Amino acid sequence: MKRKAVVVFSGGQDSTTCLFWAQQQFDEVEAVTFNYGQRHKLELECAADIARDLGVKHHVLDMSLLNQLAPNALTRDDIAIEAEEGKLPTTFVDGRNLLFLSFAAVLAKQVGAKHVVTGVCETDFSGYPDCRDVFIKSLNVTLNLAMDYQFVIDTPLMWLDKSQTWELADQLGAFEYVRTRTLTCYNGIMADGCGECPACRLRANGLHQYLSRKGVVEA
Ligand SMILES: [Zn+2]
Repeated sequence: MKRKAVVVFSGGQDSTTCLFWAQQQFDEVEAVTFNYGQRHKLELECAADIARDLGVKHHVLDMSLLNQLAPNALTRDDIAIEAEEGKLPTTFVDGRNLLFLSFAAVLAKQVGAKHVVTGVCETDFSGYPDCRDVFIKSLNVTLNLAMDYQFVIDTPLMWLDKSQTWELADQLGAFEYVRTRTLTCYNGIMADGCGECPACRLRANGLHQYLSRKGVVEA
């Protein structure tokens, strides 16, 4: 039987690296992107372009109800992106990974895939409770019971820091592609982004660490 996976895919650095990883691991890969009213439509275009470049079937699911339920800094430009000490950042959306992974699993079963791949990561823990390994394991059990199907949720980035995620992209031969074609920035700027927002800072710090470890002198 063919090994098949569905990758939860946003068009950012992490999930794009996961998509390359999955293409190496599985015989067949499909990607699913959720449209939940992101501030930046470019995110969805970026994801579609990458899926096309990689020859991956791309599903876009409408999850606008998420914004209806829980307005947040990712969808509303009148909510500032903030991370106060001891509080969840305003970019956290209650239930997002729970819902996304559950919908991805329903889709996976429909298309005959056992594996659901997600780029969540506990190492650069920004306080998102649904990025924790314990949550993923718990959900995996729940999904198997809910649908009587042996899902495997793969989290190739779970224990990597951002510099190791860059390293993985490099090992997959995807370093330049991930660097130039993905969108991680909260201000909707591709590649190296705005350089100011928390997502850009995390990405850039990891990149500099990785390049200096590799002995690359940056211009
Ligand atoms: Zn940015």
